[in-house]
Amino acid sequence: MKVLLATNNAHKADEIRHALCLPGWEFVTLSEAGVVSDPIEDAETFLGNARIKARAAAQASGMAVLADDSGLQVDALGGDPGVRSARYAGEDGDDEANNAKLLSELADVPDDARTARFVCTLVFLDEAGHEAVAEGIVEGRIGHEARGSEGFGYDPLFLPDEYGGDITFAEVPQDAKSSISHRGRALAQLRERLLAL
Ligand code: IMP
Repeated sequence: MKVLLATNNAHKADEIRHALCLPGWEFVTLSEAGVVSDPIEDAETFLGNARIKARAAAQASGMAVLADDSGLQVDALGGDPGVRSARYAGEDGDDEANNAKLLSELADVPDDARTARFVCTLVFLDEAGHEAVAEGIVEGRIGHEARGSEGFGYDPLFLPDEYGGDITFAEVPQDAKSSISHRGRALAQLRERLLAL
């Protein structure tokens, strides 16, 4: 079974391939499959945006597709950047600018009020359009400086509770991140559903 990943984010694709690891299943990104799909993600929920991406990629390709919409919710910012995580500082996917903006917005916020979570919603559509949905969450806090070079996005600022609040997602290898991350958890849930198909 060949599945189109409705993304060109190589980090996301790596995490998805690594976590799903389904015998006989092959996952290809939009660019690898030569498919162009870049819909406007204007829903107010992760599920809404994942559906927009999944349906657009399915329509453009006729393939089974898997879409991920994910982001960071910071309590002191009323849940922002949320569904706008990728374009928080303006340009889509500028991780450095997004991290700088987040640090500046939280400059006066003390440690105990810097609680946050990553959320990931996955939408799988088979070739007939049947949908399977999965969601994962990881709780943590936002640090005061970027640390580490693994991962992507807000990883250098995110201190997951599971590591005692001292180590960022960007300071651990992929395996360790996947075992507790929002995406890892959503993928583990989805894997069970796909195995049962
Ligand atoms: P999307 O591609 O529209 O789902 O945007 C997701 C955005 O949320 C990314 O560009 C990152 O800024 C952030 N994000 C999602 N997952 C992660 C993660 O695992 N680590 C760090 N940042 C993430």
